[in-house]
Amino acid sequence: MIDDVLTMIPGPTPVHPRVLRRMAEATVSHQYPSFVEDYKSCLKNYLEIMEFPQGRPFVLAGGGTLAMEMAVVNLVDEGEKLLIINHGYFGDRFGQIADAFGIEYEMISAPWGRVVAAEDLENKLNQESFAAVTITHVDTSSGSCSPIADYCEVLRGRDELVILDGVCASAGERENCGELGVDVVFTAPQKAFGAPPGLAMLIASERAMNKRKGLKAKRSYYADLERWLPIMENPGGYFSTSAVNAVRGLKEATDIILEEGLEKRYARHAALARGFRAGAAAMGLLLFTDATCLANTLSVLHYPDKADDASFRAEMLKNGVVVAGGLGPVAGKAFRAGHMGNIGREEICEALMAIEKSLVAGGITIETGTAVAAAAPHLSW
Ligand code: PMP
Repeated sequence: MIDDVLTMIPGPTPVHPRVLRRMAEATVSHQYPSFVEDYKSCLKNYLEIMEFPQGRPFVLAGGGTLAMEMAVVNLVDEGEKLLIINHGYFGDRFGQIADAFGIEYEMISAPWGRVVAAEDLENKLNQESFAAVTITHVDTSSGSCSPIADYCEVLRGRDELVILDGVCASAGERENCGELGVDVVFTAPQKAFGAPPGLAMLIASERAMNKRKGLKAKRSYYADLERWLPIMENPGGYFSTSAVNAVRGLKEATDIILEEGLEKRYARHAALARGFRAGAAAMGLLLFTDATCLANTLSVLHYPDKADDASFRAEMLKNGVVVAGGLGPVAGKAFRAGHMGNIGREEICEALMAIEKSLVAGGITIETGTAVAAAAPHLSW
């Protein structure tokens, strides 16, 4: 909690004081021995969290969008085509990145709030081959969670490289990347990792690194995995000055994740999602996302008739809780609440109470006094 405001948007999420304390330490040289050790531990922890022991980790100044761009420019060559599995705003973004580099692509899309069936992916791949396929694990706009194991099963043994956007999922939804056969997974610190924004985080398989080595089209300088590889192998080296304080903060955040334990962490995220939704349902709020593909990291909730988006969110802020507005087809008609990272049962209850109060203040008739009681039985793990 910062200044008594609870940030319940789907990123940035509340940052643990341990992370903030580490980031407040004096900035040292990017070659300072203890910093180099922190960088190495951070990369090692990231591999462990993603269950990707054979992967090559990359953590550098940037954001999730830079990591998306890195995945695309390093894996798709001149004359090759990308396949995008699209579930919303961040699926569209892969298309925009491809456009920016003149890369041809096709999309298989589901209506917002639903997901593409694995059979549709299989049918598409039976008709045509691609250099790589992108999967947005959780699309933060629609709240849809992809069946990544089913998609990876379809992709197993094929030549297409598998790109997994874990920005709204990694460390909140299990991504056992090694076993799944993912080639590039990426994220950013400000969601389920519970650290401030400012870094791009990516892991590449050997197959992905070999693809980059053989590329004819070298489309980028800063986003080139080959240029960063020596730095990630020896973080005391120089390509572009390391984000010293941000890396230290992320190192601490990854320690916190591993101290909690992955099983427990995923169980907590699932319980938070169930609890929050039970509370919302008790108020009569309906989910936008289809029940078959709900993410554990956020919920997208329809407003009751007559509720006004801007006044509701302003009222929420007065009640000390920040939620996000809807995007695309649900802009103004739904709001989004993140429940990931360092969120716990107290925050879920606080958010539910604030939602109740804010709807009532807006003159909306709802069942009051029931949300927290409905959530409580779910909030253990
Ligand atoms: N992918 C997904 C699924 C996201 O939610 C986001 C950020 N909301 C991004 C990519 C882009 O990340 P960033 O905002 O850090 O560039």
